[in-house]
Amino acid sequence: MTTSTYSLTWDLDVFFQGGSNSTEFQTFLGELKETLKSFDQQVSTWSVENILDDTSSFVSILESLQNSTQKLGQAGAFVSCLQAQNTEDAKANELRGAVATLRAQLNTILTNFDDKLTNIKDEDWNNLLKADGINELEFVLNERRQKAKEKLSKDQEALLNALSVDGYHGWGEMYDSLVSKVKIPFEENGEIKKLSVGQAHNKFSDPDREIRKDVFRKWEEAWDDKADLFAATLNHLAGFRLTIYEQRGWDKVLKEPLSYNRMKKETLDMMWQVISDYKQPFVEYLNRKAEMLGVEKLSWYDLDAPVGDVNSLFSFDEGAEFIINHFGEFGENLANFTKKAFEDSWIEAEDRAGKRPGGFCTGFPLSSQSRIFMTYSGTPSNVSTLAHELGHAFHSYALRDVHPLKRGYAMNVAETASTFAEMIVADASVKNAKDDKERLTLLEDKVQRSVALLMNIHARFLFETRFYEERKNGLVSKNRLNELMMEAQKEAYGNGLEEYHPLFWASKLHFFITGVPFYNFPYTFGYLFSLGIYAQALKEGKGYEEKYMALLRDTGSMNVEELALKHLNVDLTQRDFWEAGVKLCVKDVEEFLEMTK
Ligand SMILES: [Zn+2]
Repeated sequence: MTTSTYSLTWDLDVFFQGGSNSTEFQTFLGELKETLKSFDQQVSTWSVENILDDTSSFVSILESLQNSTQKLGQAGAFVSCLQAQNTEDAKANELRGAVATLRAQLNTILTNFDDKLTNIKDEDWNNLLKADGINELEFVLNERRQKAKEKLSKDQEALLNALSVDGYHGWGEMYDSLVSKVKIPFEENGEIKKLSVGQAHNKFSDPDREIRKDVFRKWEEAWDDKADLFAATLNHLAGFRLTIYEQRGWDKVLKEPLSYNRMKKETLDMMWQVISDYKQPFVEYLNRKAEMLGVEKLSWYDLDAPVGDVNSLFSFDEGAEFIINHFGEFGENLANFTKKAFEDSWIEAEDRAGKRPGGFCTGFPLSSQSRIFMTYSGTPSNVSTLAHELGHAFHSYALRDVHPLKRGYAMNVAETASTFAEMIVADASVKNAKDDKERLTLLEDKVQRSVALLMNIHARFLFETRFYEERKNGLVSKNRLNELMMEAQKEAYGNGLEEYHPLFWASKLHFFITGVPFYNFPYTFGYLFSLGIYAQALKEGKGYEEKYMALLRDTGSMNVEELALKHLNVDLTQRDFWEAGVKLCVKDVEEFLEMTK
């Protein structure tokens, strides 16, 4: 057995000793409760009558806000990590419940706070924003107040918050519980193994088509087996959300996700429009890949299949070195930061049963550290995922000296930082390929990423938008969900596949995330946005890292349209920017088609 330099499991003890039995964490939760109590007191007794005579009380409320949010962030991150590393950890589930209750309490306090903000006269408000200690928070405070104005009365919102613990987030938790019971049988060396969802998913990049097909059959069966439960879960979750929108008088399902992502509808529409206009080259790629795999047409389970016979696996150490070296070609900050993340055990990568599927990066705001979760089995796509999550961690790192209340960035710009990191590794590795065979494999990996973001995510977006529209009129059956998914996939993949994955709505956890609505288009936004940044980085060379970090630092306090204008000098509501990004992806496809002629 070889020992690796870098640990495959993460260090959580540095935050709280003892995992889900941590007494240190219990104490921390107790403190957090007290913090919330005094924050509540402070907000309740705060008078906005003569607000300009007493700006200091507002400043101290902002301090409490920062304090409560950071502590809650710390607790939430710890619990997510505990749950992800062992889905059978019942104690961790209890802790999640406790944290959810505290989060709801904070939300109730904030509802009260926000209500008071809306009661401040516009003129007073504008003067208030000029005061010391407040002026630098203008953007985030205006945003808060504006959002509050669009909501229901304080009491109604407080009730909604309280009800959301069991009536909304509870459904998200239900999904996770159901998924942990999904096991996919897989025969290896004459023995039937029960794979977790994450383990089974990795088999979709197996070079053997029979294995992929077999796993896919069992995969669909396993999801179908519990599809009624998943359908009920999804319907209730969506129903809760829609009822709230209706009560608030929001008639557009996309209102919340757009404002959360600080972007305009025109920007989103233009992005998808351009993508739809450029489906054809990607369909040609799918057809070429089918040819190379010796099949008439590609199926869902072939999408991640490796082409050619290069089937290199990277040990965790090799993957780490690979990433660190290539990051180093972009900039020293990124490389040094990453090396430290590996050295200090920030990453949980071990391939074992009982882990949550997928990957994520979560920040511990009080410690200025992040943790990365994934299941690493050595595939090139695992290396990409690792680079991706490290990109997220670097984003938090870049923001570490920014005012804590200006560090809240949305998913679309979060995915910019992560895909940017992924791209550095992908691009550099194509350039450094030792021969054409390897070059092709790596190039294909890049194209696969484009297919994922311009086709797969597009399907998710189409499905989710249509599902929510239908859900407005009542429950949507499991069969209808399958249909909607099939239609969305056909459209998004330009009818380029033989077999689709109708139960994708059940197998993809993103549809069940309650923290962020529409957990899809921000990925595509981030991808194309980062391509734009990447193009500039290539032009400007190593010194670009400083500018990149300056952009990251502004991500918590600007709309994306302003961010793009300031740092990239482009207008996101116009076609050009998106087209330039998509064309870069098409260029990879053309190169792939040329190499495989
Ligand atoms: Zn990400």
